[in-house]
Amino acid sequence: MTVREALNRGMAFLTRAEADTPYLDACLLLAETLKLSKEALIGAYPEEIDSGAVDRFEGLLRRRADGIPVSYLRRRKEFYGLEFYVDERVLVPRPDTETLVEEARALMESRRFRRVLDLCAGSGCLAIALKRLFPEMEIAGADVSPGAGDVFRFNAVTLLGAPLDFFESDLFADVPGTFDLVLSNPPYVGSAEVEAMKRSGWPEPALALDGGPDGTDFHFRIIENAVERLAPGGSLLLEADPGQIDKLSLEMERLGYINVHTRRDLGGRERVLCGRKPES
Ligand code: GLN
Repeated sequence: MTVREALNRGMAFLTRAEADTPYLDACLLLAETLKLSKEALIGAYPEEIDSGAVDRFEGLLRRRADGIPVSYLRRRKEFYGLEFYVDERVLVPRPDTETLVEEARALMESRRFRRVLDLCAGSGCLAIALKRLFPEMEIAGADVSPGAGDVFRFNAVTLLGAPLDFFESDLFADVPGTFDLVLSNPPYVGSAEVEAMKRSGWPEPALALDGGPDGTDFHFRIIENAVERLAPGGSLLLEADPGQIDKLSLEMERLGYINVHTRRDLGGRERVLCGRKPES
């Protein structure tokens, strides 16, 4: 069988299995099987592949059809131009979350920050992307999941060439000190929806998705605790679902945060909530 034939068969299989992006998924999985880049795969269309590779490719296609995301099958996901290792211990980084990096980056370029904390850090995509941009800054991650801690540490060493501080902690509980910038992409899917996802076999950890009845439990705790844990003038950035933003903005204003505003994601939806603790 040639590369082209294998790809066509894979695409037809995933189309029948109702995958959202059958062509892209089949390309990525065949490239993974043959240890080629996506570009090299296209160049290799006329080449023959051996039966071992066909079997491995079909194994990956079946797992994809069972609902395993391509990122877990490839064990990596590109985020902000970096390849992160991912597996079932962490949420797969989403393109939407790059909006949070953009907002943090703009603040870090314009203000004199020293200490930055990423809460619910998961794979480390936020903390590590920011550390690449601002190597001189003290950036740490925290997550309650020991498995996430292992993935975070692995990604830090792989992508930064050196460890990055990680605290195994329920939000701020076991993290010392105050911070000039706290950012978080906390779990923010409603519990009922997470239950339905689990029943349908969704493989991402519920711990990384379940934000309580309406998905905002963690945002509320972070907004409240950060009042104490931000340095004067420090900023808080939270990713949220667009439908949660109004309620969370009101809570930030109620607790005395200033300059409360939002930033939209690439799809034009309000995605990041920003606020600042007053200087005094
Ligand atoms: N945006 C993610 C989703 O819709 C949720 C991520 C999260 O809970 N932090 O699947």
